[in-house]
Amino acid sequence: MRIENNYSVKPHNTFGINQITKLFIEYCSADELKELIKSKKLEQPFFHIGAGSNLLFVDDYEGTLLHSAICYIHPIKETQDEVWVSVGAGTCWDDFVAHCVEKEWYGAENLSLIPGEVGSAAVQNIGAYGVEVKDFLVSLKAINLLTGEEREFSNAECQYDYRYSCFKQPEMKIWAVVEVTFKLSKQPTFNLTYKGLLNELGEQPCTLKRLRKAVIDLRDSKLPDYKVLGNAGSFFTNPVVDAEKLNELLQQYPDMPHFAFKEGKTKLSGGWLIQMCGWKGRNVGDAAVYEKQALVLINKGVATGREVYDLSERIIDDVQQQFGVKLYREVNVIGKNGLQ
Ligand SMILES: Cc1cc2nc3c(=O)[nH]c(=O)nc-3n(C[C@H](O)[C@H](O)[C@H](O)COP(=O)(O)OP(=O)(O)OC[C@H]3O[C@@H](n4cnc5c(N)ncnc54)[C@H](O)[C@@H]3O)c2cc1C
Repeated sequence: MRIENNYSVKPHNTFGINQITKLFIEYCSADELKELIKSKKLEQPFFHIGAGSNLLFVDDYEGTLLHSAICYIHPIKETQDEVWVSVGAGTCWDDFVAHCVEKEWYGAENLSLIPGEVGSAAVQNIGAYGVEVKDFLVSLKAINLLTGEEREFSNAECQYDYRYSCFKQPEMKIWAVVEVTFKLSKQPTFNLTYKGLLNELGEQPCTLKRLRKAVIDLRDSKLPDYKVLGNAGSFFTNPVVDAEKLNELLQQYPDMPHFAFKEGKTKLSGGWLIQMCGWKGRNVGDAAVYEKQALVLINKGVATGREVYDLSERIIDDVQQQFGVKLYREVNVIGKNGLQ
């Protein structure tokens, strides 16, 4: 177990924000975490982080940041057509995807190169190019940080939705995910519903390796490298509107991009709305809107978390005023007492 006092979170967030946490504890196994809880050394407030690729620290944190270093990939069951794999929550997500591709297990490849860890992928229900983690997640194991109880949550119990699971609710922040079980196909099945992916693949027949490469190339061409320009991917979720609001908007903006969602609702392009408000490529100090994708906010150097947050407030206000649409932050904002 690693314990650090008054520790900078800079290496633990892809925005590159330099704030201090009172305590940082990294554990290496579920047993180690249970021991920590039993010893009563884990005091509230606490907040569990992953690789920090969806966090924005706007203040020093006056509690304990917990991090999992539980890393393994264990196949647990196999049939002719499918394989069940249990993965430690601290495993790098893309290492897991690369492993699946290597083994010719189908299902995770569209989620190649998404930063972060396996535990957070299950919390966030990460998604890209027509696939979400919930599509092949069977269950997860989590430990209650107040009592040490270990519990299994089925896919249905996680209550998955667009970039949502029950673990995003403030009262569920007492659960530390320690292991996630996925079911992958051993038979070639590809999700090529995203047009850009088909274009990237070109004429060649689709294979797992080619599809992973196409996803990686596409992502590299569109998203900033957080090691160069601090960011957390999409800062906002794409807003969802009902039919009435959609019609109202289409009358005024007939070319507005929109995509069928569910239950008669429609997803709008948050990036387009932000761009239409004139924000694409603009900056306020070192906090800026990425010039190639307006849904991504970046740290051009030494922006503080507060500056990035203030920029996001201005964008939310402008989009609300021009379109009457509310943008929600996908990024988890962490203040001095935790999630805001
Ligand atoms: C360049 C870039 C591109 C991105 N592209 C995408 C994309 O295409 N699709 C997408 O969905 N996301 C994308 N993201 C966002 C991000 O990668 C995901 O949200 C990712 O799952 C966050 O993982 P993390 O390990 O960094 O978690 P963190 O950001 O550290 O934490 C995220 C959440 O998970 C919780 N958490 C973390 N670990 C645990 C645990 N073990 N137990 C309980 N709770 C835990 C935290 O409390 C927090 O609520 C992108 C980010 C970047 C920087």
